[in-house]
Amino acid sequence: MQFSDFGLDKRLMSMIEHLGFEAPTEIQHKAIPVAMLGHDLIASSKTGSGKTLAFILPAMQRLMRNRPLSKRDPRVLILMPTRELAKQVFTQLRLFTTNSQFKAVLILGGENFNDQVKTLEKDPHFIVATPGRLADHLSQGHFYLNGLELLILDEADRMLDLGFEKQLTQINNAADHRKRQTLMFSATLDHAQVNDFALALLKKPKRIAVGSAHSEHKDITKRFYLCDNLDHKQALLEHFLANEKYQQMIIFTATRSDTERLATLLTAQGLSAVALSGELNQSQRNQIMDGFSKGQQKILVTTDLASRGLDLVNVSHVINFDMPKHTEEFVHRIGRTGRAGSKGDAISLVGPKDWISFKNVEGFLQQSLEFDQVEGLKASFKGLKPKKPKKAKSAKVTTNKKTSDKKAKSNKPKNKTFHIAKDVGDMPVMRRKATLAPEQIENNDIDEIE
Ligand code: ADP
Ligand code: MG
Repeated sequence: MQFSDFGLDKRLMSMIEHLGFEAPTEIQHKAIPVAMLGHDLIASSKTGSGKTLAFILPAMQRLMRNRPLSKRDPRVLILMPTRELAKQVFTQLRLFTTNSQFKAVLILGGENFNDQVKTLEKDPHFIVATPGRLADHLSQGHFYLNGLELLILDEADRMLDLGFEKQLTQINNAADHRKRQTLMFSATLDHAQVNDFALALLKKPKRIAVGSAHSEHKDITKRFYLCDNLDHKQALLEHFLANEKYQQMIIFTATRSDTERLATLLTAQGLSAVALSGELNQSQRNQIMDGFSKGQQKILVTTDLASRGLDLVNVSHVINFDMPKHTEEFVHRIGRTGRAGSKGDAISLVGPKDWISFKNVEGFLQQSLEFDQVEGLKASFKGLKPKKPKKAKSAKVTTNKKTSDKKAKSNKPKNKTFHIAKDVGDMPVMRRKATLAPEQIENNDIDEIE
């Protein structure tokens, strides 16, 4: 399969050539034709496998080939959970829009609101945004979405985890017409909350899964080390910093304050480290990410703020100083290395406070994870025993029929084929005298492609 087989516009083809991409990745190969046919799509593939281009190319193609539904409304909206990721996707999109008639803008939280109002007044074709700020502008009528042709949700599951469901629903409702296409991408899309949400947003979506979030990422070597306490973790970290051959490293901690503390500690030891956390203002965040992506620092200490999507080619090592609270974030954190075919190392430190998270990750990956040891830094901690269930409580639950029914339901294995409960997307475009006839409501269900 070659890029030329997609039938893409020649201006897109020449940019792909310029980027030096020889052939589509597997997710691109599978998702691009489906998206180009206008289907809604739920697509998942491992981290670093080229999902961004899998939505940018069909979006560009659609705008180049189709007439707009409205002269003023944005035609494509791309949403993602963090500002850093939005900036990265925007940069990639701009490669394709710069020499075209299409205008793309970036709307992020933490930046000047009034400047954004002026930007939106220029009627951009593409908006790349984080959902919170975009929803604020929508509420205040700074733009409308009746003419939106393509809604793209990158890292959709994370946006839901972060509590953006209300904003996403608001955005969906503002663009609820039958000509709208919706694409959802992530490495981890198969949990119940995402399924329910997808059912409400997508029309007869195709599902494409290249591999599974649970399967091994062959380019990332995972290692786990037991730790007794914070001092022990720090000693192990110092050992790895002295002994691993790393180009750049991302260290994930559980809390914002730990990012600062660790970065200060490492800097005091003469290492080149910087902390990124949500506490900083946007210009500080920009400065840190720009510096790190240019290689000005070797170590980035951060939280799950940076777990998703960031594509930093020189990151050879990820260290989980603490295990993540949300199990899927493990897959995303370690996916900051081993991207686009390069190799990476992921080291996780597991102390008593991390034990439950570690066991959850083990369950999620569906494999039994072994621990490595560093000579002279062995832990006395050997893991926690599972707690025995409390008898009295469970007896009470089983006597209550309603509760036990509910419980039985939630314990059911996840069903991979979804059943759509309601129809969506059948409203005509009404603003600015657009005259689209509503079509018949179709009976939605989801096709499994793989
Ligand atoms: P994902 O979203 O799946 O984590 P990205 O879209 O961030 O992955 O892409 C990861 C890296 O792969 C980026 O550096 C991107 O430029 C590169 N890439 C994308 N498509 C191709 C391709 N067809 N061939 C080679 N590299 C690619
Ligand atoms: Mg991505």
